[in-house]
Amino acid sequence: MAPYLRDWTGQYQGSAIAVLRPRSTDEVAQLVRLCAEAGIAVVPQGGRTGLAGGGVPLDGRSVILSLERMNVIRTVDTDARTMTLEAGVILETAQNAALEQGLVFPLTFGAKGSCTIGGALATNAGGSNVVRYGTTRELCVGIEAVMPDGAVISALHGLRKDNTGYDLRHLLIGAEGTLGIITAAVFKLAPAPKVRVAGFLALEDLAHAPSLLNRMQDRTGGAVEAFEYMPKPMIAAIQRAFPDIRAPLDTLPETGIFFEVASSRDADAAEAEGGGSRLEEDVLGLLEALMEEGALPDAMIAQTEQQRLDLWHLRESALEGVMHNGPAYFTDISLPLNKIAPFVAEMDQAVAEMGFATLTVGHLGDGNLHYTLSAAKGQDWDSLPLAKAKALIFDRLQAAGGSFSAEHGIGQSKLDLMRQLKTPAQLKAMRAVKRALDPENLMNPAKLIPMD
Ligand code: FAD
Repeated sequence: MAPYLRDWTGQYQGSAIAVLRPRSTDEVAQLVRLCAEAGIAVVPQGGRTGLAGGGVPLDGRSVILSLERMNVIRTVDTDARTMTLEAGVILETAQNAALEQGLVFPLTFGAKGSCTIGGALATNAGGSNVVRYGTTRELCVGIEAVMPDGAVISALHGLRKDNTGYDLRHLLIGAEGTLGIITAAVFKLAPAPKVRVAGFLALEDLAHAPSLLNRMQDRTGGAVEAFEYMPKPMIAAIQRAFPDIRAPLDTLPETGIFFEVASSRDADAAEAEGGGSRLEEDVLGLLEALMEEGALPDAMIAQTEQQRLDLWHLRESALEGVMHNGPAYFTDISLPLNKIAPFVAEMDQAVAEMGFATLTVGHLGDGNLHYTLSAAKGQDWDSLPLAKAKALIFDRLQAAGGSFSAEHGIGQSKLDLMRQLKTPAQLKAMRAVKRALDPENLMNPAKLIPMD
């Protein structure tokens, strides 16, 4: 049972009565019904890559219900461009199955080799392609779930339009297993790009990022797939963890941006005069203009598929870079795009004065930052004023109209922030939903919503 009792970070460790590993929706329903009759709490689990402790049982009085055996790709509908997946399918398996049909399952992030579709839905995961395709919620067009009393809701219709009452799909997505167990879902697929252009930019100033993103969107017809903030300390930390990973530019920039644009249009994939693709030509034209304006001191564009994959590898190794670096406080915040640069500038200065260094990485195109505190050189983490730094971060975040939880979920790690920062009216409505659907509080209790 041991592997099921801890998560990827190793930060959360729990205990449970047993691990249940059903193979079908019917088996999930039977188990949930039995647990409801016996008054036993159920903690759903996917790949245990969640970063908020949501899938780790707390007190030894619940059972873990792992969806890992429900890993069948039920259908790929190439006419509707949808895919029906059981909850335990690994994200990368879904991506590969879509590619075999010449389509793309657009959700992607560093844990793709081990996280599950059910976990991605339950946390409404985001990742690096949200700027183009949206979060897991926006990709899902049908859901099947077992509710806390064991009843099965089956709405695997794949309809883009269905306004028949409250949309239970959207209640279950992002509910982190507190309202029921997702057993399967239908997802939209996207056309597979014929050409991709990835690169790394050194920006003069983070404040230029929103206009750069918009100009890149305008120039490429909205083809930006990734727009990721990777400042110098983050890249340095990744290289300390993985000495084989090469830096994208000779001089590491204070404000680095990893980007990718992609297109399924033949015209974009066609060869341009310079020998590259037309899409690459468009991007180069924009970068040249930015250099002339003095906004872009340095830039590189991947010249081979391997270089492109290396850039993705760099980005997807960020979390491991942070973990390897030592003790840290990791956030998952989002802000309006035009508030990001002033927020980062103010916080970097304030926390540096308290003895912290920052290891930030972010899905900048979505306004999502993993603003991370670590100990500055020569500082002892345990003696740093973490509570003071956190209070300042969340105070400024609130003032800027940001969110304290953008994509990883609340789990057990942010219950205090839920209490502090959601309004009483919001908490009241959420508690009412939870009590109505799960009156005995047996679905992943003490996660997501503080009930007291
Ligand atoms: P688990 O960790 O097993 O569970 C997560 C939560 O979902 C728990 O509350 C659990 O109870 C619930 N749950 C699981 N399955 C079900 C189900 N079938 N029905 C109901 N509830 C269920 N996340 C991002 O959003 N963006 C990123 O860029 C990103 N990058 C990451 C990089 C790394 C290296 C790692 C380790 C994690 C990253 N994550 C990221 C976080 C994590 O991968 C996602 O939250 C993922 O969606 C969790 O999936 P899982 O199957 O591992 O779920």
